[in-house]
Amino acid sequence: MTPPLTTDGSLIAAEKPCAIPDLALPRTWKILVLAPHPDDFDAIGVTLKHLARNGHAIALGVVRTGSGVEDAYRPGLTLADKADLREQEQRRSLQFFGLPPEALTVLRLTNDADDQPIDCPENGALIAAFVRAQTPEIVCLPHGNDTNNGHRVMYALLKQAARGSGHPLALLLIRDPKTIEMRTDVYMPFDQADAEWKSRLLRCHDSQHHRNLRTRNHGFDDRILTLNREIARGLSLAHEYAEAFELECDNVPRTGNGSLITAFRPQSPEGPST
Ligand SMILES: [Zn+2]
Repeated sequence: MTPPLTTDGSLIAAEKPCAIPDLALPRTWKILVLAPHPDDFDAIGVTLKHLARNGHAIALGVVRTGSGVEDAYRPGLTLADKADLREQEQRRSLQFFGLPPEALTVLRLTNDADDQPIDCPENGALIAAFVRAQTPEIVCLPHGNDTNNGHRVMYALLKQAARGSGHPLALLLIRDPKTIEMRTDVYMPFDQADAEWKSRLLRCHDSQHHRNLRTRNHGFDDRILTLNREIARGLSLAHEYAEAFELECDNVPRTGNGSLITAFRPQSPEGPST
């Protein structure tokens, strides 16, 4: 994790949200997705597809959990069976995405009664060691200001790991349907063709699709794409959909104006494209 988070030192602060295709991210930068649940990767599938096509190495660490699989989905499953099922769904989605199986690491953390990871020293040490071994420049993970406890805990564990490492690290905090409030610093705009591709990716998580149909009366893909449509509308984009992120940088020197967003330098002086 030795390269600095800047390409040439000519940094400018992003005063308004930047489109990810306009960012000058060095291709050598590795992207790590840190997912408290199987399917958090898929929620930002279009961003990751764009980064993969631009030559970035992508790795995924996903917590092993049986959480979110209803008994009615497949009666008789134990919690371990449910965790196996969710792992299989994640492997299917990565195959559809086009990542090799070795890009996935299943993280066996200490979980609570709901099979969600807990904020404890053992989990902190495991996440710190995992991030250290992966050597990413960017980590994507759900935003910490979220009603979902697993999302909050993973954010807390990663922040502890980042502070402990002292290495520069950019966090792209994902806006999820359960995010309470966040700032949008960067976004990935996309069109209907990518939305259809993303729908197929999300439907690999069949247990989650059925849970959404039963409890929310719409599919898992509809839930995520509705959010993506709201994001695009909120940013007044020409594209119909967008994935959104808040950027946080750890261990990067603050610039004169105090902004940490300077680690990301838009290529276009005109600002974000739509
Ligand atoms: Zn999640």
